[in-house]
Amino acid sequence: MVIRISAFVWILVLGTLTGMSQDRFQISSDLYYTEVRDSVYVITHHFPRYGSNSLFVLLPGKQGVLIDTPHETTGTMSLLVWIQSSFGNLQLTAINTGWHQDNLGGNEYLLSRKIPVYGPTLTATLITERRDELKDLLLEQTASLEDRRYYESYRELNLLPPDHTFPIEEGLLLEKGGETFEVYYPGESHTVDNTVVFLHSKKILFGGCMVMSMRHQRPGFIDHANMKEWPESIYKVILKFPDCDIVIPGHGPYGNDRLLEHTKEILEAYNADAGI
Ligand SMILES: [Zn+2]
Repeated sequence: MVIRISAFVWILVLGTLTGMSQDRFQISSDLYYTEVRDSVYVITHHFPRYGSNSLFVLLPGKQGVLIDTPHETTGTMSLLVWIQSSFGNLQLTAINTGWHQDNLGGNEYLLSRKIPVYGPTLTATLITERRDELKDLLLEQTASLEDRRYYESYRELNLLPPDHTFPIEEGLLLEKGGETFEVYYPGESHTVDNTVVFLHSKKILFGGCMVMSMRHQRPGFIDHANMKEWPESIYKVILKFPDCDIVIPGHGPYGNDRLLEHTKEILEAYNADAGI
């Protein structure tokens, strides 16, 4: 009962902060979905602690597009089971917005299911050259956890690059089911290769790891970031897509275009403090 009340209060608080109700539904032990709009779902994977967002878009003609993936194989399998049981057999396409595991940790499973995965050549190069370094970090973060699932799953995980690549500076326009998905690279940010994806007819921006939620007051993991360029990159996103109705950050609740200004402000304050 206590848990039910606090979850209810949490939803109320979120709804008040963002002006939107963000009811979450559970898919499996670590995986949740929130329906943002008709046929558009934010998928949140907690593996182990912090939740990371992907976006699943159901499209006419039994098609679907997945932007970013759960962190690893078990979450990605659960997601695909949920998609199939909820919507039937779909022709799926995936997009990776960066080289970290919260962007592409599901690629091994997606590629084994013959699902095409789009991503920049730079992302493919980074994960290929630095997969051991990233995996060591994930194993280090999960080694001391009592629940061995996290460590074991990362130990088994093969971090694979996207198999449909394009030059990052050129971006990508992907037309699926009457929607245009535009992959845009504004410059370096939380990683050197993070991109955003804009859904033109739905006016939804998947900001991924370069965009922070209203809940965040500082940048999170910045070991691979370009702190100096990041605020400028956000500014380029603001100029490029001036009519976003909904913005989805890599972590935390989604919101409107205020998230972009908020991210830029946090970064500028951080940089001023750090003398960057
Ligand atoms: Zn992230």
